[in-house]
Amino acid sequence: MHLQKNFDRVVTPGKLPDTTVVVLGLMEMGYTDPKMIAEVLHRREVRSVRELLRMFKTSKNPVVRHCVDVGLPPGLVRPFPYEGVKVMCPICRCMVDHVPCPRCSVVSRHCDSSPATRRHPLPPSPTKAAPGTMRKVLVMRRRAAKGQSVFHPQDVDPGEECRK
Ligand SMILES: [Zn+2]
Repeated sequence: MHLQKNFDRVVTPGKLPDTTVVVLGLMEMGYTDPKMIAEVLHRREVRSVRELLRMFKTSKNPVVRHCVDVGLPPGLVRPFPYEGVKVMCPICRCMVDHVPCPRCSVVSRHCDSSPATRRHPLPPSPTKAAPGTMRKVLVMRRRAAKGQSVFHPQDVDPGEECRK
Protein backbone atom coordinates (compact mmCIF):
# COMPACT_ATOMS: atom_id res chain seq x y z
CA MET A 1 0.00 0.00 0.00
CA HIS A 2 1.50 3.30 -1.10
CA LEU A 3 0.60 6.75 0.05
CA GLN A 4 -0.46 9.25 -2.58
CA LYS A 5 2.54 10.86 -4.26
CA ASN A 6 0.89 13.81 -6.00
CA PHE A 7 -2.45 15.56 -6.25
CA ASP A 8 -2.33 16.30 -9.99
CA ARG A 9 -5.51 14.43 -10.83
CA VAL A 10 -7.63 15.21 -7.79
CA VAL A 11 -10.93 16.70 -8.98
CA THR A 12 -13.28 15.67 -6.17
CA PRO A 13 -12.63 14.75 -2.52
CA GLY A 14 -14.64 11.53 -2.93
CA LYS A 15 -12.06 10.20 -5.39
CA LEU A 16 -9.12 10.66 -3.00
CA PRO A 17 -7.41 7.36 -2.10
CA ASP A 18 -8.69 5.92 1.19
CA THR A 19 -5.32 6.38 2.92
CA THR A 20 -5.29 10.07 1.94
CA VAL A 21 -8.79 10.54 3.41
CA VAL A 22 -7.68 8.70 6.57
CA VAL A 23 -4.70 11.04 6.98
CA LEU A 24 -6.88 14.11 6.31
CA GLY A 25 -9.45 12.78 8.79
CA LEU A 26 -6.81 12.27 11.47
CA MET A 27 -5.51 15.81 10.88
CA GLU A 28 -9.04 17.17 11.14
CA MET A 29 -9.42 15.47 14.51
CA GLY A 30 -6.19 17.05 15.71
CA TYR A 31 -3.90 14.06 15.17
CA THR A 32 -1.05 15.66 13.26
CA ASP A 33 1.95 13.71 14.55
CA PRO A 34 3.50 11.88 11.55
CA LYS A 35 4.73 9.07 13.82
CA MET A 36 1.24 8.49 15.19
CA ILE A 37 -0.25 8.57 11.68
CA ALA A 38 2.39 6.09 10.45
CA GLU A 39 1.49 3.80 13.35
CA VAL A 40 -2.22 3.91 12.52
CA LEU A 41 -1.39 2.99 8.91
CA HIS A 42 1.03 0.27 10.07
CA ARG A 43 3.89 1.88 8.21
CA ARG A 44 7.35 1.33 9.55
CA GLU A 45 8.81 4.39 7.90
CA VAL A 46 7.53 7.85 8.75
CA ARG A 47 9.16 9.55 5.77
CA SER A 48 6.30 9.02 3.29
CA VAL A 49 3.80 10.26 5.90
CA ARG A 50 5.89 13.41 6.43
CA GLU A 51 6.02 13.86 2.66
CA LEU A 52 2.20 13.57 2.41
CA LEU A 53 1.73 16.10 5.24
CA ARG A 54 4.12 18.46 3.47
CA MET A 55 2.11 18.07 0.25
CA PHE A 56 -1.09 18.93 2.12
CA LYS A 57 0.54 22.11 3.35
CA THR A 58 1.94 23.23 0.01
CA SER A 59 -0.54 21.86 -2.54
CA LYS A 60 -2.22 24.41 -4.77
CA ASN A 61 -4.86 21.95 -5.95
CA PRO A 62 -8.13 23.69 -4.99
CA VAL A 63 -9.86 20.45 -3.92
CA VAL A 64 -6.96 19.48 -1.66
CA ARG A 65 -6.69 23.03 -0.29
CA HIS A 66 -10.36 23.03 0.64
CA CYS A 67 -10.06 19.63 2.38
CA VAL A 68 -7.02 20.79 4.35
CA ASP A 69 -8.15 24.34 5.19
CA VAL A 70 -11.88 23.85 5.65
CA GLY A 71 -12.21 20.12 6.20
CA LEU A 72 -13.47 17.06 4.40
CA PRO A 73 -17.05 17.27 3.11
CA PRO A 74 -19.51 16.20 5.84
CA GLY A 75 -20.03 12.44 5.75
CA LEU A 76 -16.84 11.65 3.83
CA VAL A 77 -15.21 9.21 6.24
CA ARG A 78 -12.98 6.19 5.73
CA PRO A 79 -12.16 3.19 7.96
CA PHE A 80 -8.63 2.56 9.14
CA PRO A 81 -6.93 0.08 6.82
CA TYR A 82 -6.23 -2.31 9.71
CA GLU A 83 -8.74 -3.72 12.15
CA GLY A 84 -8.43 -3.03 15.85
CA VAL A 85 -7.06 0.49 15.46
CA LYS A 86 -9.13 3.20 17.13
CA VAL A 87 -8.59 6.83 18.06
CA MET A 88 -10.54 9.09 20.36
CA CYS A 89 -12.77 11.71 18.78
CA PRO A 90 -11.91 15.00 20.51
CA ILE A 91 -15.50 16.23 20.07
CA CYS A 92 -17.76 13.36 21.22
CA ARG A 93 -14.96 11.42 22.98
CA CYS A 94 -15.98 8.15 21.34
CA MET A 95 -13.34 5.67 20.21
CA VAL A 96 -13.72 5.48 16.44
CA ASP A 97 -12.20 3.30 13.70
CA HIS A 98 -13.41 5.57 10.88
CA VAL A 99 -12.06 9.10 10.43
CA PRO A 100 -13.09 11.80 10.70
CA CYS A 101 -15.48 10.68 13.45
CA PRO A 102 -18.60 9.56 11.47
CA ARG A 103 -20.97 11.05 14.03
CA CYS A 104 -19.26 14.45 14.21
CA SER A 105 -18.39 14.60 10.50
CA VAL A 106 -21.99 15.16 9.46
CA VAL A 107 -22.14 18.30 11.59
CA SER A 108 -20.80 21.12 9.46
CA ARG A 109 -18.41 22.83 11.81
CA HIS A 110 -16.99 25.45 9.53
CA CYS A 111 -19.99 27.13 8.06
CA ASP A 112 -21.40 29.92 10.20
CA SER A 113 -24.82 29.85 8.60
CA SER A 114 -25.40 26.14 9.26
CA PRO A 115 -28.06 25.27 11.84
CA ALA A 116 -25.44 23.34 13.83
CA THR A 117 -23.33 26.46 14.31
CA ARG A 118 -26.36 28.57 15.03
CA ARG A 119 -27.27 26.24 17.85
CA HIS A 120 -23.68 26.38 19.05
CA PRO A 121 -22.37 29.95 18.99
CA LEU A 122 -18.66 30.56 18.53
CA PRO A 123 -16.60 30.79 21.70
CA PRO A 124 -15.77 34.42 22.53
CA SER A 125 -12.05 34.00 21.92
CA PRO A 126 -9.71 31.65 20.01
CA THR A 127 -7.22 29.38 21.77
CA LYS A 128 -3.46 29.15 21.31
CA ALA A 129 -3.51 25.48 22.38
CA ALA A 130 -1.94 23.34 19.63
CA PRO A 131 -4.20 20.84 17.85
CA GLY A 132 -3.93 17.29 19.14
CA THR A 133 -2.70 18.34 22.58
CA MET A 134 -4.46 17.54 25.83
CA ARG A 135 -4.76 21.30 26.38
CA LYS A 136 -6.71 21.72 23.15
CA VAL A 137 -8.98 18.81 24.05
CA LEU A 138 -9.66 20.44 27.42
CA VAL A 139 -10.44 23.75 25.74
CA MET A 140 -12.82 21.98 23.35
CA ARG A 141 -14.46 20.13 26.22
CA ARG A 142 -14.96 23.38 28.13
CA ARG A 143 -16.52 25.01 25.06
CA ALA A 144 -18.82 22.03 24.49
CA ALA A 145 -19.92 22.16 28.14
CA LYS A 146 -20.96 25.79 27.63
CA GLY A 147 -22.92 24.85 24.51
CA GLN A 148 -20.43 26.67 22.27
CA SER A 149 -18.88 25.47 19.04
CA VAL A 150 -15.76 23.46 19.92
CA PHE A 151 -13.78 25.18 17.15
CA HIS A 152 -13.03 28.84 16.64
CA PRO A 153 -11.91 29.97 13.16
CA GLN A 154 -8.88 31.72 14.64
CA ASP A 155 -7.67 28.74 16.71
CA VAL A 156 -4.06 27.79 16.06
CA ASP A 157 -4.19 25.50 13.03
CA PRO A 158 -1.89 22.49 12.47
CA GLY A 159 -0.05 24.26 9.64
CA GLU A 160 0.71 27.26 11.81
CA GLU A 161 2.05 25.03 14.55
CA CYS A 162 4.43 23.26 12.17
CA ARG A 163 5.88 26.51 10.84
CA LYS A 164 7.03 27.61 14.29
ZN1 LIG B 1 -17.11 12.37 17.38
